[in-house]
Amino acid sequence: MTALTTPLIEPINAEQQAQVLDKTQATLALAEREYGRQFSAIPVLFDLRGRCSGMYRVRGNERVMRFNPHIFAKYFSDNLATTVPHEVAHYVSDCLYGLSNIRPHGDEWRQIMKVFKADDSRTGDYDLRGIPTRRQRYFDYRCGCQSHRLSSRRHNKLARGEVNYHCRQCGENLSFVAACQVTT
Ligand SMILES: [Zn+2]
Ligand SMILES: [Zn+2]
Repeated sequence: MTALTTPLIEPINAEQQAQVLDKTQATLALAEREYGRQFSAIPVLFDLRGRCSGMYRVRGNERVMRFNPHIFAKYFSDNLATTVPHEVAHYVSDCLYGLSNIRPHGDEWRQIMKVFKADDSRTGDYDLRGIPTRRQRYFDYRCGCQSHRLSSRRHNKLARGEVNYHCRQCGENLSFVAACQVTT
């Protein structure tokens, strides 16, 4: 008998999103002071899914910063201190040098991170349990009182008869309902 699933992390709320936007603007203001020029305000989206905390994206003339609202929810202060300046530094390095002329995390980018007094060593090696990843298969199970969601690893163990999961609430064994693909 094994204890069950980690609950999924809820994304950050509107107030936390506002904090991220404030931090983005404040960080950009540091770059403006340092380099003595303006950088246009950049759209910030909270639509990133999967294993990355943040992403700076250029498509044609459109530049955006995307943040992962679930990873931010799990590690909020850390992401505010590292992921936000990380992506702003990509944007600023793009404006100053052009992305095609520099390496993504090269000297130019690291210099900007110094201006931000931000840690440039982090690779975002977070424990992502509870973070919905883009294409994850889940298996829905039922007991006497509720539904349960199992990872494919657990489902396979159960199917092979290696384990026997039961519900913590009602104590019943889980029975298989359906396989589903979570794409949130
Ligand atoms: Zn990067
Ligand atoms: Zn139950």
